[in-house]
Amino acid sequence: MPRTPFIVGNWKMHTSRDGAVRLAVAIAAAPVSGVALAVCPPFPWLAPVADCLAGSQVSLGAQDCWTEPSGAFTGAVSPTMLAEIGRYVIVGHSERRRIFGESDDLVARKLTAALSAGLEPILCVGEDLGTRQAGDAKKFVSAQLEHALSQQSEEEIQRCAIAYEPIWAIGTGVAAEPSDAEEMAAEIRSVLVRIAGDATAESVRILYGGSVTPANAASILAGANVDGALVGGASLKAESCLAIAAAAGWLPAAAGARLPGREAFVRGWQPEGKTTPWTPRSVW
Ligand code: PEP
Repeated sequence: MPRTPFIVGNWKMHTSRDGAVRLAVAIAAAPVSGVALAVCPPFPWLAPVADCLAGSQVSLGAQDCWTEPSGAFTGAVSPTMLAEIGRYVIVGHSERRRIFGESDDLVARKLTAALSAGLEPILCVGEDLGTRQAGDAKKFVSAQLEHALSQQSEEEIQRCAIAYEPIWAIGTGVAAEPSDAEEMAAEIRSVLVRIAGDATAESVRILYGGSVTPANAASILAGANVDGALVGGASLKAESCLAIAAAAGWLPAAAGARLPGREAFVRGWQPEGKTTPWTPRSVW
């Protein structure tokens, strides 16, 4: 079964209520097909954004959750609550690990809680620059992955997406080389084979995250093991978010054709029957 490309917008701690609603309405209105799209707004905007996405093909996710379904955890948000309103939750984002001190253990507990609540977690892993320069990136990412997934069943792992996000690429404007993204995605898939077997490993979507833009998305997403992107900055504008969705390989249903890859994209390839030069902007 081919893996449907998956593009996730992580809005982080950005947007006003009005801005979030406008963004959600614009993204929900795009006739995208053949790609799964999700947005993860800040907690206070989950409900208004859920209203905007109702009836659309765009799913809702949260950026984090706590480890328990309910209780005396002031300021925390439970996965059970999130499951009532959305489908996905990001777990173990490097900003949570780095700024909020989340350990591999805590990330594993959050993942377990999210799965128990019926959510589909997007588990983030990724090395810092020093680790990459020391040649230890694969070892580091594999260890993060094993820590988070070793207690999960195959069925639970199938409900996860893995986001490879090298810390040095997040928000810096310096994305990983497509070959590096693919190499790590392949490594992640081989760890999944070890933990959960071939069939599960083949079904899990592996995303790349770190300075993805409409300009570099097609080449990064061309990797055989790169099934999508977790997008921060570029997801805050509908136009760039949707252009990345198009670069995931598909055009809106109306155009009805698969993009033949970055080269053609750059050369000005256009869908059959269209005579004016095609760009994501002209479609949306
Ligand atoms: C992220 O926040 O997960 C991310 C990848 O951010 P950016 O796209 O801005 O680098």
